[in-house]
This record gives sequence, structure tokens and C-alpha cells, in this order.
Amino acid sequence: MKFTKKQIDRYSRQIILKKIGVIGQKKLLKSSVLIVGAGGLGSPIAIYLTALGIGRIGIVDGDNIELSNLSRQIIFSTDDVTKKKTNIIIKKLKKKNPDVNFISFNKRLDSKNINEIAKNFELVVDGSDNFKTRFLINDYCLKNKKILISGAISKFEGQIYTFNFSKKKSPCLRCFIPEMPNNPDNDNCEYDGVLGTLGGIVGSIQANEVVKEILNIGDTLCGYILIIDTLKNSFRKIKLNKRSDCSCNEKK
Ligand SMILES: [Zn+2]
Repeated sequence: MKFTKKQIDRYSRQIILKKIGVIGQKKLLKSSVLIVGAGGLGSPIAIYLTALGIGRIGIVDGDNIELSNLSRQIIFSTDDVTKKKTNIIIKKLKKKNPDVNFISFNKRLDSKNINEIAKNFELVVDGSDNFKTRFLINDYCLKNKKILISGAISKFEGQIYTFNFSKKKSPCLRCFIPEMPNNPDNDNCEYDGVLGTLGGIVGSIQANEVVKEILNIGDTLCGYILIIDTLKNSFRKIKLNKRSDCSCNEKK
């Protein structure tokens, strides 16, 4: 793979970084990331991953755009309401960076389709809004030894956790939350509310962690949860311990 002049120009501010360079940028362009959910988190995640040059991006979401989405799902406009999220997001992102190959999955991720959808992606970014999907993605990534970068937002707060299941010591979501909460289908934003900026704050950190995981630079969040309270401006990084009685031990 040889960069064109335009590519060198486009990625120049990243190539100049010692921890990225030409080799790192090429690695990003050769990498593949699946984004689950084209919502409050999925919008900024997809925008940044496209702009910074992830070569292959899959986006899975079965919803249509609603007026109540617009306060936080910043890629959508008022005249996009009622249209399919994946169609609109990919149409807009294609204009942003022609180097990126997009794959659209206009459906809700479930236990029947996850293998087919996720199999050709090395890393999964979870921007879903319910526990059922989060547990599904956790179990899939654990089984297939993939990297999972998950985010959640509610009210003025956000959480990000990363599991790198290629590493034996990595805990999983079930180490942290052994039982699925009572309302697994609940969309937190719908019931508790959320400030629009939270998607940008948490989604941007998730996109940042994607780059760090792919390039293996810095201290990643693997095995930690980052809890953000924007009212207090507090960022707390808490170690998640692997539970010896968790089902993730059996599958290793
Ligand atoms: Zn576990």
C-alpha cells in the first residue's frame, strides 16, 4: 500500500505523530471496525473513525431517525427524520473520506445475526442503548477473542469500558454485572434523559480508544471502566477485576 499525495496531505497531522507515523496510518487504513448503533454514541464514533482513516467501517442499526434523536445524534438533520439511520449516516460519511469502505447493516443486532454481521471485523465498538445488546456483544467478542470498546450515556454521566479478549486476563461485562438488569430492553435516554453533549464526550473517547487498541499505543482502558460525571467534571478510572466464578473463565 502506497500513499497518494492527497492521502499524505489528508493524514499529515496524524502521520507527524511519532506514535502513529506512516506505518500507523497504514495500519488504521487496513483495519476494520464494527459500530453497533448509529445513535448518540454511534454518530461521533462514526464521524471520527471515518475522518481519521479507519479503512473499513460497518454500521449496524435498524432504526429510523426520530425528531427526539436530533439533540444528540449530531450527524442527522431535521429533514432526515423518518429516514433509515444507516442509509443517511453512510451517505454523509462517504463525502467525508473516500478512503473508507462502508458496510451497512440495516437491522437490529441479535443472537441470530451477530456472527454473520461481526465476523469480518477485528474490533467492535458498542454504542447500543440497552443491556440485552451489550451482553450479546460481550459474549460474542469473548467467544471470538475480539476487542470490545463499549460506552453508555445517561443524564449527565457516561461510562466507557474496554475488553481485549485476546488477552487471557481481560475481565468481561459479566464479571462486572453478573445478571442482566430487570429491564434489558430499556433505552436509558428515553426514560432518564441525557444531555446531547454526552454522546460527543463518550463517543470521542471510544473512537480514541479504537485507535490506541489498533496501534497498541498508550495505556488503553482494557480491564478498566472510566466513569465520567460532567456536572462535577470528574473522570474516575476504576479497575475491573476478573471474577473467578464468572462464565468467562470457562470459555478460555
Ligand atoms: Zn467475566
